Order: sequence, then C-alpha cells, then structure tokens
Amino acid sequence: MSLHGEYDPDNIFAKILRGEIPSVKVWEDDHVLAFMDVFPQSEGHVLIIAKQSQARNLLEVEPDILARLTAALQRTAVAVERALKPDGIAVMQFNGDAGGQTVFHLHFHIIPRWADRPMKGHGHAPMAEAAALRPLADRIAAELA
Ligand code: AMP
Repeated sequence: MSLHGEYDPDNIFAKILRGEIPSVKVWEDDHVLAFMDVFPQSEGHVLIIAKQSQARNLLEVEPDILARLTAALQRTAVAVERALKPDGIAVMQFNGDAGGQTVFHLHFHIIPRWADRPMKGHGHAPMAEAAALRPLADRIAAELA
C-alpha cells in the first residue's frame, strides 16, 4: 500500500481496538493503546497506537494525536527500560509498504536491545504465545510512572 489512500477499517489494529481479535495489552487510556507485538523482534517489543485517529502513517496524523502518541511512547519506553533493563531501545516507525510498513494504522515500535543479542528482522520474527507475552506486559505495566 502506498503512502496515499484510504484507511482500511478492517486492518488488524482496528480489529484489536474494536476487541474483535485479541491482544496482550500493556496499558491504555482513552486515546492510546500499548500492546505487545505478537511477532517480537526482541523480548519486550511493544507497539503504541492511537484510538481516535484513522491516520495510516506519520504523514497523515493529526498533530494533537501525534503529541499524545509520542508522550505515550516515551512513558512506555521508560517503563520498558525499568522493567527489562536493556542496553538500548530502538524506536521504529514505518510509512508505506516501500517504507517497510505492513499494518496501515499508524504505530510506533519500542524494541529493547541487548548488546549480546541480535534483533530479529522486521517481518521475520516467529509468532509468540500470549502466555509468554503476558508476563512481559505485566512487568512493563508495573513500571509505568
Ligand atoms: P509495521 O510493519 O511497521 O506495519 O508493523 C506491524 C507490526 O504489527 C509488526 O511488527 C507485526 O509483528 C505486528 N503485528 C501484526 N499482527 C499483530 C497482532 N495481531 N498483534 C500484535 N502485533 C501484530
């Protein structure tokens, strides 16, 4: 899908927001949902999405919603660092299929990195069980300020 076009209300994240498919939630408020990536590129890979926007990518998002998303991104990244003690954290965000995007509801990736552990490739990580993700989500949520 290109950078331009219509929002698909049946994309995976829209279905998660409507509760039509499950997710492993870290936290949410009226505006933002943070949940575990089910194909984690490293342990503790979290996604941040807006609830009140149909922006498919960074180019389209309303500035006030972007401000809420980035505040949520920082809050969650701090909690990830406290919970999992990575050596670094990669924040990623892809736009358009040529840009690496596969789900066309704007989102940010928080990917903890360890110096001695290679990160799995984007779109090449195996699926994780919810039972394995839930304890990680709980540990991160417990560190939210
Ligand atoms: P992107 O390629 O930047 O659009 O990222 C989409 C992300 O969504 C990928 O990292 C996928 O692993 C992740 N993903 C796809 N389906 C699900 C799902 N049902 N629950 C959680 N994460 C998902």
